[in-house]
Amino acid sequence: MLEIVTMVLGPVATNAYLVGEPQSQKAVVIDPAWDGEFIAAEARRHGWQIDQLWLTHAHFDHIGGVAGIMKQFQPAPSIALHPADKPIYEARGGAALFGMRIEPTPEPNVWLKDGQTLQLGEQCFEVRHTPGHTPGHVVFYCADEKLVFCGDVIFWGSIGRTDLPGGDYSTLMNSIKTQILTLPDDTRLLSGHGGETLVGVERRDNPFLS
Ligand SMILES: [Zn+2]
Ligand SMILES: [Zn+2]
Repeated sequence: MLEIVTMVLGPVATNAYLVGEPQSQKAVVIDPAWDGEFIAAEARRHGWQIDQLWLTHAHFDHIGGVAGIMKQFQPAPSIALHPADKPIYEARGGAALFGMRIEPTPEPNVWLKDGQTLQLGEQCFEVRHTPGHTPGHVVFYCADEKLVFCGDVIFWGSIGRTDLPGGDYSTLMNSIKTQILTLPDDTRLLSGHGGETLVGVERRDNPFLS
């Protein structure tokens, strides 16, 4: 059983998910949004070692805490990103577009691809490539726990914006249809912003999908 700590951090209220596996006392941070030292302290409070950072995509509000966490753990956690988001990552997540700044972030060292399996202790997550919000956006799906960390692809009653560099509306809609709405209705959607919802609820009520 995984334990999930949700933290709303940074200038645009991004959800950072600290996911711990109590048996191994290992943890992963999905989208270390901001305030890396704070996320690290929260992991320590639970007795967890953060050994992986998984990035749904490289926008600055999802990677602003990477540098801060890296300094807090030895060995430093691995950083996983889809290669199609490398240019955004190298441009510091596009922070300058928003008049923001983030600390220089170390290079990713795990390059994600569609269908890949990631491991947190005994639990498996499937990587699903979901371009449209950014070219290298991915979601992390855990079938056993019936949940998907879906970044900025889909939100409670909304969908990701497609007006930023590399965004494309029809690509996003295709990703939602093929990679999200194909999951069982009772799958929890843990998004990059706002509260959680369920696949079935969005399939029925999301005004952007009808
Ligand atoms: Zn984004
Ligand atoms: Zn975001």
